[in-house]
Amino acid sequence: MSGAGQITGGGGFTPATSIKEAEAFTKKLGIEVKYDFNIDGKEKLLRLNEFNEVIDDIYLKLPKTNGKIGRVTIWERESARADALLVDKSGNIINYDIKIAGKGKFSKISREDGVFMTGQRGFDWGLYNSDLNFNSEKIAKKFTSGSSVKTRQEMITHEVGHAVLDPKHSDWSLARKKFDKWVDNTDGIFSAYGSKNYDEALAEAFVELHRGTYKAGMLPEYFENKVTKAFNLLK
Ligand SMILES: [Zn+2]
Repeated sequence: MSGAGQITGGGGFTPATSIKEAEAFTKKLGIEVKYDFNIDGKEKLLRLNEFNEVIDDIYLKLPKTNGKIGRVTIWERESARADALLVDKSGNIINYDIKIAGKGKFSKISREDGVFMTGQRGFDWGLYNSDLNFNSEKIAKKFTSGSSVKTRQEMITHEVGHAVLDPKHSDWSLARKKFDKWVDNTDGIFSAYGSKNYDEALAEAFVELHRGTYKAGMLPEYFENKVTKAFNLLK
C-alpha cells in the first residue's frame, strides 16, 4: 500500500493529508503550482489532491504527456465553468479554475448551459425562439450533451487536453473553418461545448478518449484520424 501523496503510477492514488505533502507531490510530477489568491487551507488541499490525482492517472495512461505541463495556477472564480480555464501558447500552463466550497458546487453542465456557452452561434443555429427562450426540440436534435465533462476531475482532464493534444494540422485556420462548417451542418453533435470551436472540440474529445467513451463520428472524419492518432502517440 502506498502512502499519502506518493506517486503511485495511477490507480492507487492516496490523497495527501497536508498542503506541504500535496505540493511536494505536484513537484514530483514536475509541475510548479501557483495561487493567485489566498486560498483557504482545506479548500487548497482538496484542489491540490484533485489535481494530483488526475495528473497521476493521466501520466500512467498517457506517459508521453509527462513533461508537457510545466505550471498550474489555481485561482478563485464564482463560476466553475470550464471555459474559464486557459492554456498558454506554449501549451504548458494550465489555469485551474476552482469553485470554492460554500458558494455552490460544480455540477454537470446542462444541455442548456452548453448551448448558452456557444453564444452567438446559438442564434445562427435557431436554438432560441423569438422570446429568447431555448428551442428544446432543436437543442435535443443538435447536441448529445452540454459537455463531455461530468466531474471536476474531468474538467482538469479537459484542460490537460488543451495542453497536450496536438493533431498537427498544416493549416490550423483551415482546420478551424472546416470544423465550424461541419458543426453548422450537422445534428447529433457530441457536446455543445465542443461545438463552440475546434479547440474546445479537441479538449472535449480528449476527455472522451481518456475515459474510453469516444465513438467514431464524434468529430468529423477529416479531423478524427488526426485526433485519435495524436492521442495514441501519447501512450
Ligand atoms: Zn476548454
